[in-house]
Amino acid sequence: MSVSIATITAVLIVGHIVVFLLLLFDTRQGVVTGYDRAFLWGKALQIAGWGLMMGASSTGLVILFCAGNATLVCGWSLEIFAMLSLKVVMNRAYTTGYVLLPTGSVIALLVPGLAVGTRIMTLFLLQTVTYLIPGAILMFSRRDTSLIQKVTGAIYLLCSMSTLYRVVAILQDSAYAAFPGASSSQGVAFALLLQPFLLLLSSMSYVLLKKEQLNRRLQVFAETDPLTGLSNRRAFFRLAGEHVLRSAARNEPLSLLMIDIDKFKAINDTHGHAAGDDIIANLAATLRESIRQSDIACRFGGEEFVVLLAGCDGREAFRIAERIRAAAERSEPRSIRYTISIGVATERGDGTNLDALIQRADDRMYRAKELGRNRVVQEE
Ligand code: GH3
Ligand code: MG
Ligand code: MG
Repeated sequence: MSVSIATITAVLIVGHIVVFLLLLFDTRQGVVTGYDRAFLWGKALQIAGWGLMMGASSTGLVILFCAGNATLVCGWSLEIFAMLSLKVVMNRAYTTGYVLLPTGSVIALLVPGLAVGTRIMTLFLLQTVTYLIPGAILMFSRRDTSLIQKVTGAIYLLCSMSTLYRVVAILQDSAYAAFPGASSSQGVAFALLLQPFLLLLSSMSYVLLKKEQLNRRLQVFAETDPLTGLSNRRAFFRLAGEHVLRSAARNEPLSLLMIDIDKFKAINDTHGHAAGDDIIANLAATLRESIRQSDIACRFGGEEFVVLLAGCDGREAFRIAERIRAAAERSEPRSIRYTISIGVATERGDGTNLDALIQRADDRMYRAKELGRNRVVQEE
């Protein structure tokens, strides 16, 4: 198979320029992070690197070939560093890998007396060990792995295999195998070509992963109450809907607590609105401590909260509500005592109507107010 090296490098350069421009336009619309800048610099270096490789192929100068590879590796290190920051919080280990790869590669390219094949092989091995394999593992790790992350991880894995294949090819035929497309064997040429194109493909994930991260943040933002950090009404209806379906399928009971702070207007009037806010935040913390991971606590309105207890029958729900009421009564934010009234409603599996359940708990809560407040009232 005869592949023109100039054509391959030209295609790669165009590809990298497209990704560069894609991110550049994307960052114009929003906040530019340090990682975005690292990615853009990484891309610019890769474009320059392929330019040097093009020069190397037309002039046959080994020095240009080595300089091209060094530039490519430095650019790629920056790029993948930025890429991994979208998946994990960058720590010392990643930073070490990020420094190790370009440093080791540049040393391998500069040490005198080595064959070109050996230099490039060292560089590929470093790339595989410090970033490609760990990158693939990271993209697949954790529970909330998205499809884009999995695809990126798979590309890294393929890439590490094709890079290792390049190493084997260099060991067998260093004159050809170091440069993509320069081999006389079809299989080798294909494997050699695959790697730079896979790297180009994986870099496109950056823009997609950034979008994905932004969407996730926006959803959290749109569904979180800023004062308490609890779910807001919007999140509650989404999550509670899922709970209702699940408990219907399992024929499990579902309980709902409607919680309202007693005489809150008077607290605001006496101690000020800021103190009132602290009490709301204090009650939210109490709720968080009192419920399980699978339950939902939500700030339903001003000083009203709703708690959905999955798999809880009436007795258990009453016990939890009483525990919350007692904890609120005991707590003293800003040395202010406050009490709450709670209405409890329970439904068993089939045909649970969320709105009706909320209404029933709300009726019980008003009954608690009528009976003198600071109490839990449950349906008979
Ligand atoms: P009751 O025992 O009958 O519930 O009496 P209440 O005074 O709590 O009654 P009501 O529900 O009418 O009053 C709620 C008050 O909560 C009115 C409003 O000023 C106050 N409020 C609502 N949202 C906030 C908030 O975010 N911060 C503060 N500080 N106050 C709020
Ligand atoms: Mg109220
Ligand atoms: Mg109230």
